[in-house]
Amino acid sequence: MPDAERLRLEGRLVHGDGVAEGAVEIDGATGLITHVGPTEGRSDADCSGCLIFPGFGDIHIHAREDVSGKQVYKEDFTTNSAAAVHGGVTQVVDMPNNPTAPVDDARYAAKEQLTAKSDVHVTLYAGIGPGTHPLQRHVPYKAYMGPSVGDLFFTSQAQLEETIARYRGCNVSFHCEDPEILESSRHEATHEERRPARAEITATKFALELIERYDLTGKLCHYSTGEGLQQIMAAKDRGLRVTCEVTPHHLFFDTSMLTEANRMLLQMNPPLRARADRLALIEALRSGLIDYIATDHAPHTLEEKAVGASGVPLLDTYGAFATWLMAEHGFTPQDIARVCATNPGQFVREFLPGDFGEGYGRIQPGYLGSLTVLDPQTPYPVTRESVKTKCRWSPFEGFVFPGSVRYTVLRGKLHDVANRNRS
Ligand SMILES: [Zn+2]
Repeated sequence: MPDAERLRLEGRLVHGDGVAEGAVEIDGATGLITHVGPTEGRSDADCSGCLIFPGFGDIHIHAREDVSGKQVYKEDFTTNSAAAVHGGVTQVVDMPNNPTAPVDDARYAAKEQLTAKSDVHVTLYAGIGPGTHPLQRHVPYKAYMGPSVGDLFFTSQAQLEETIARYRGCNVSFHCEDPEILESSRHEATHEERRPARAEITATKFALELIERYDLTGKLCHYSTGEGLQQIMAAKDRGLRVTCEVTPHHLFFDTSMLTEANRMLLQMNPPLRARADRLALIEALRSGLIDYIATDHAPHTLEEKAVGASGVPLLDTYGAFATWLMAEHGFTPQDIARVCATNPGQFVREFLPGDFGEGYGRIQPGYLGSLTVLDPQTPYPVTRESVKTKCRWSPFEGFVFPGSVRYTVLRGKLHDVANRNRS
């Protein structure tokens, strides 16, 4: 029985420079790691065969809840939290394209109150749309360059720049799809052709120019094209503060896998790309050019998917997906820690409450005692019944991931995802 005041786990701890047997202790009152040291044969939970990671963070999700309550039929901060815990995710950052978008201090604070019911910590993006201004508070921002889901978008590069000019020095994430290319492609036959790769490549060039011109800390969301990666590498090389996300769906699926049966379910923005793009993204993630696995978790009901809603729910499978990258593509545990925990932790660090210590992303004293314990040997067959998202489906249904999440630890509180103690 775990000590109420302290949680101690022993096993293979994943650090930035390798994996080592060890013990980690978390103070239940502060939620912070107090001690990391050698094993002594006393663990509060069985981590045999597992890898103990710093807590995973998903810095691009859509939990759907806002003060309007209009979309809580498909997700809310409670069910989103359950899906995150199930997927081994300990902190999330939620997007602002809600019916009542958080674009000012009052609306941001009102939405933030709703996050109190979430067990996983939620950081909120504020929206940037035509005519908006920066908040008084220090927050991360999201700009939709062209139309996607919701009303928060621009219709031209000029309109976007006019607004971005007010956000000098801010932390801004960009959805890179050029609105004019989307407009001129809208009569094409398929979703993939209506949102072509050149829309992202063109928008990337403009986003990087804005990041440089307005001294932004920039992030490119859900990156999908191999060709665009060259621009990002060049920008990083010349010292721009820019990072880049990739989703599990762009790493796992490509257009060669689309069938009449799955085409509607696998519709998202940006869309799936060619196999060569997918393989380029995997290598860019491994090499460090891409910084984060971020899901773009987008819960829509199956009825909405049947009539063309874009986006797929992915929080439930975040941890299992990491085991696929290790088994299928040879990612090391340190690679996974970097893109799933350390870099996401670094992204949110400056936006966390004052009592969160050093924040997320490392197993070291002073950091938060939030951990993701993966069992690489016990497969997870994805079923509709197993997922916790309120929309109740997964694009991975029928697929068997090679490994699974055993425990998710949230600031010293152990969540037994695999239910191993329920024998
Ligand atoms: Zn998104």
